[in-house]
Amino acid sequence: MKGQWSSRLYFYITATIALLLLFAGCAVNPVTNEREFSLMSEAQEIEAGRKAYPLYTQKSGGQYLDDGLQGYVSEVGRKIAAVSHRPGLTYSFNLVNDDNINAYALPGGNISITRGLLAKLSNESQLAAVLAHEIGHVTARHGAQGYTRQVLAGVLSTAGIAAMEAADVNGREIIAGGGLLGMQLVLTSYSRDQERQADKLGTEYMVAAGYDPRGMVEVMEVLDSARKGSPSTIEQMFSSHPLTSDRLEAAKRRTDSYPDRFKTIERLGREPFEEETLKLKDDAPAFDKVAEGKKLINDGKDSKGLELIREGAKSAPSHAILHATLASAELQVGDEKRAAEAAARSVELDPGLFQARYVRGLAEFKLDEYDKSIKELGAADEIVPGQPSVAFFIGRNHEEEGNREAAAKAFSEVLSKVKKGEMAEYSKKRLLEWGYIKGDPAKQ
Ligand SMILES: [Zn+2]
Repeated sequence: MKGQWSSRLYFYITATIALLLLFAGCAVNPVTNEREFSLMSEAQEIEAGRKAYPLYTQKSGGQYLDDGLQGYVSEVGRKIAAVSHRPGLTYSFNLVNDDNINAYALPGGNISITRGLLAKLSNESQLAAVLAHEIGHVTARHGAQGYTRQVLAGVLSTAGIAAMEAADVNGREIIAGGGLLGMQLVLTSYSRDQERQADKLGTEYMVAAGYDPRGMVEVMEVLDSARKGSPSTIEQMFSSHPLTSDRLEAAKRRTDSYPDRFKTIERLGREPFEEETLKLKDDAPAFDKVAEGKKLINDGKDSKGLELIREGAKSAPSHAILHATLASAELQVGDEKRAAEAAARSVELDPGLFQARYVRGLAEFKLDEYDKSIKELGAADEIVPGQPSVAFFIGRNHEEEGNREAAAKAFSEVLSKVKKGEMAEYSKKRLLEWGYIKGDPAKQ
C-alpha cells in the first residue's frame, strides 16, 4: 500500500512540475537574446493581444473611417516592423477614433494610434517614430514582462468593473464612458528603463526603414507642448509612457550621432503626410466641437452641449462615431426618438461600431421596441463579447416581453460578472423573486 501511495505522490509531483514548466518558464528575449522568467509564452502573448484588440479598439471609439488613411498608417508601420527584431509577428496598425493624444501596443503586435495624436503630427517620420516606439515595446516583450510582474504581485487590474458598478439601469446612456465597456487590462504602464529601451529600438528601426531620426525628437516635443496646452487629453499617454527630460536629451544625442545623409527633407516625408492627412485635419474641428459638447453635458449644460454635438455631427457627416456620440447625448438628455435616429445613421455608416449598436439598443428599449433592441444588443455582443451591460439590457427586454426564462439567463450572466451596483442588484432581485436563486429578499 505504502509503495502505491508514494508512487502516486511521485506522479503528482512530477505532473505538477511538468505543468509549471509548461505554463511558466523562461523565454528568450528577442531583443537582448537573454533568457528571462516569463509567465507568458509567445503563443499566449499573441492570444492575449488578439483577444483584447476589439475591446481596446471599441473603447477608443472604433476605427477611424478612412480606408486610404488606414492604409497609409499600416504601410508606414509595416515598413518598420519588417526591419525590427520580430519581423515574423502578424502586426496590425490601427487608427482609432479617440480625441485623446495616445498610442498603444498590445502584446503580440496590434498597435493603435489615436486620431488626436495623428492630428498633432506634421510629417511621416514623426508618425514612424510613434509606431516604431510601440514596435519597440512589442519586440522587447514589455507587455509580457508587465503581465508577469502583475501576476506575481497579485494586482491584475479589473478597472472596467468599477465602471459597470456605476451604470444606469434605466437606459440613460452615460456619455462620459464611451459605452460601458468593462475590461481586464492587458496594457500595463512601462518602467523608465522600458521607455528608454523602446526609444532606442524605435530610433534604430525607423532609421533602418528609411526615416529621419529627427522625427523621434520632434514627436517628444509635440507631446511636451501638448502637455502644457491641454494636459487632460494626454493623461493616458503619459501614464503608460512617462516622458521625462532625459528621454528627450537621449533622443537628441542619438539624432546627433547619425551622419547628415540620414537627416534630409525626403526622409522627414512632409509631403506625402500632408496629403494623406488633409481630410483628417479638415474634419478635426467637427470632432473638437463634439468633444466640447460632451464636456458641457457632463458639466450639466445639456442644451448647449447637445447643440454643439449636433453641429459637429452635421459638419462631418461621414463619421459614424460622431452620430453615435450624438445618439448618446440625445438619450442622456431624454429624446429617445432622436437618439434612435442618430444611432441608426451611425450603424449604417459603421455596422462594426459597438457604441452605435449599444446606444441604438438602449434607445429602442426605451421606445418599447424590444425585438429591435435585442437585435442591436446582440450585434453589440458580437463586436465585444461578454459585456455585462449588454446582457443586462437583453435581460430587461426579455423581461418586458414576458420571457422570464430568457431574462433569467441574461440576469445570471450579469451576476456572474458584476457583484455590486444597480445592475447587479436589479438582476439579483429578479432572480430571487422568480426562484432562480435562493435567499432572503429582505436582506438583499
Ligand atoms: Zn512607451
